[in-house]
Amino acid sequence: MPVLNETHNPDLRCWISSANRATCDFPIQNLPFAEFRRKNTAEAFRGGVAIGDQIIDLAAAKGLFSGEAAVGLSACAEPTLNHFMSLGASVWSALRLALSRALREAATEQKALEKCLVPQDEAEYSLPCQIGDYTDFYTSIFHATRVGSLFRPDNPLLPNYKWVPIGYHGRSSSIDVSGQTFRRPQGQLKAPDAEAPSLNSCKRLDYELEVGIYIGKGNALGEPIALDETDQHVFGYCLFNDWSARDIQAWEYQPLGPFLAKNFASTVSPWIVTNEALLPYRTEFKRDAADPQPLAYLASAKNTQQGALDIKLEVLLQTQQMRAQNQAATALSESNFVYSYWTVAQMVAHHTVNGCNLRPGDFFGSGTQSGPDEEQGGSMLELSQGGKKSIQLPNGEQRTFLEDGDTVVMRGYCQQSDGVRIGFGEVSSTVLPAHESAHD
Ligand code: CA
Repeated sequence: MPVLNETHNPDLRCWISSANRATCDFPIQNLPFAEFRRKNTAEAFRGGVAIGDQIIDLAAAKGLFSGEAAVGLSACAEPTLNHFMSLGASVWSALRLALSRALREAATEQKALEKCLVPQDEAEYSLPCQIGDYTDFYTSIFHATRVGSLFRPDNPLLPNYKWVPIGYHGRSSSIDVSGQTFRRPQGQLKAPDAEAPSLNSCKRLDYELEVGIYIGKGNALGEPIALDETDQHVFGYCLFNDWSARDIQAWEYQPLGPFLAKNFASTVSPWIVTNEALLPYRTEFKRDAADPQPLAYLASAKNTQQGALDIKLEVLLQTQQMRAQNQAATALSESNFVYSYWTVAQMVAHHTVNGCNLRPGDFFGSGTQSGPDEEQGGSMLELSQGGKKSIQLPNGEQRTFLEDGDTVVMRGYCQQSDGVRIGFGEVSSTVLPAHESAHD
């Protein structure tokens, strides 16, 4: 199993009492990173670490640590985390250890760090780093099979699926942080019985429940990252809503894959939960004995023993009507990243096996994380069976796809039987009506 250290100790307690509550997403064992500033100010964005209901302002904490931790701390004062992420696992780890020690009950740094706290209630976030290249994978075989059967009833799962971690190169410019709003896209739509397509606003707007993966340290062009070396390169994880226009997608996706159906908006949660914080939740990667076993460059004892990640995932919906009536978002489905057919290590190793270079701030989407049961669909396309079945909401409304004013919320957390909960916070964003010039 992964080598844990003192920062993972479930008995650690923080001098900030909100961090010690059982339901808190951000206990002392988590320590995720974001870029933040005080709401409604012109302050510079700077790095912060979540602890309880507070943020440690890492720019304000400058000078508090020494050695590699100080190098990391000083990089975190910048308005993006790219520099910090480029420094590599030894610096990430040193800063995590220094913060963990300084936040423990009776730490001598308490007085100095108290001056660096900003309540999360008073903060707003930017993207944590400048995202360079964005690659979207397709790692849930349950999603791939269900969606495949809607798009290609006679041939749902293509023969390469069980051999290749399938992905496509996406576009990073429309990725934004939680709170994002975007107009319903328009594009070419063609009903199956129509002779020709027409330009219309999307009628089948959907979300995708994904895990986002941030690359920290890159690799040189031509130098693949070996499967067992990927922990040196993966900085951390977030929740990722990859908004999708299913009607645009159905007409455009062959032969080169998604294009305008996927690049009008995608939303990340503000906090990057580090790879190191998630080590206790690594678990066995299982492959059905009847399935092809991965090729040698995608197989290792380490990947088999600890390649998978047990992250509980949830999607909720709050309609405009629910918001007007002060009703909380209602759950649509739950799933878990552990169902992924490929591990993050396999995604990184495969992405670079041809020599492709990854850079600090590059981003992967895991692909929609649907579970084996029908109610575990990570998209509305699956839950409504391609629009054939209405989803009933508790207030009497129903949906087959998203309506204007709908807010989609995703949450995620890891929890072991010993009780430590590592939360991701949430990603929330809202669909606005199409541009007034749009065709409908
Ligand atoms: Ca996707």
